[in-house]
Parts: sequence; structure tokens; C-alpha cells
Amino acid sequence: MNENGLSRRSFLSMTLGCLSVGCASFLLSCQKKTEAERQGATEMAKGESAAGGPCADVSGLTEQEKQTRVSNAYVGKSTTEGKFCSNCSLFIEGRPCGTCSLVKGPINPDGYCTAWVAKAT
Ligand code: SF4
Repeated sequence: MNENGLSRRSFLSMTLGCLSVGCASFLLSCQKKTEAERQGATEMAKGESAAGGPCADVSGLTEQEKQTRVSNAYVGKSTTEGKFCSNCSLFIEGRPCGTCSLVKGPINPDGYCTAWVAKAT
């Protein structure tokens, strides 16, 4: 026992205890992160991010069909001024989701992809 009334054994026990709590916290945070990553992967499997809205569920598509969305860089919300699926000649009207003769799965009228072609007027 030292002058503070703390024995070496007590000190080591407390230190190990703190380390154990720290390790447990670390492992729990890793577990949470892994679950979040798993959930993210599930969302990716469903399709695009929440920006895709009601037309983001691609769970019924084959991998090949899903690939048409990826290879044409389809997004559920266009950021390209004046270009939307709704004014693309390949868009097949539907609400809330249409379809497309090129990109498979539900298509958001507000979406966009690199294959956009102006609708004939
Ligand atoms: S081809 Fe046209 S309708 Fe089809 S996803 Fe691309 S922009 Fe939308």
C-alpha cells in the first residue's frame, strides 16, 4: 500500500477495469458501425438513395437490369438544369413512377441519366 492507501493490486485492478470498459465501448461502437454499414448496403441493394423517393425500390430487378441504372448514371433527382426523365423521349409516363425504354425499374419523373434525349415537341 502506498501513502494514498492504494495498493499496487488495487491500482492494477482499477486500470484493467477501465481498460475493459474502454475496450467494450470500442467494440460496441464497432458493432454499431458494422450494423450501419449493413443497413447502408441494404439501401444500396434497394436502389438509389432517398433522393430516388418512391421510385428507388429496385428489389424486383435482376442484376443486369440494375446495371442499366448504374451504367447510365441514373439518379432519382436530376441536378442537370432542364433535363428530367419527364421531358426525355425515352420516358414512359407513370405516376408516381414511370418507366424507361432503356433504364430498367421504376423511374422518377424528376430523375435523370446520361442517356437523356430531348422529347420531340
Ligand atoms: S433515358 Fe431518359 S427517361 Fe430513361 S432514365 Fe435516362 S433520362 Fe430518364
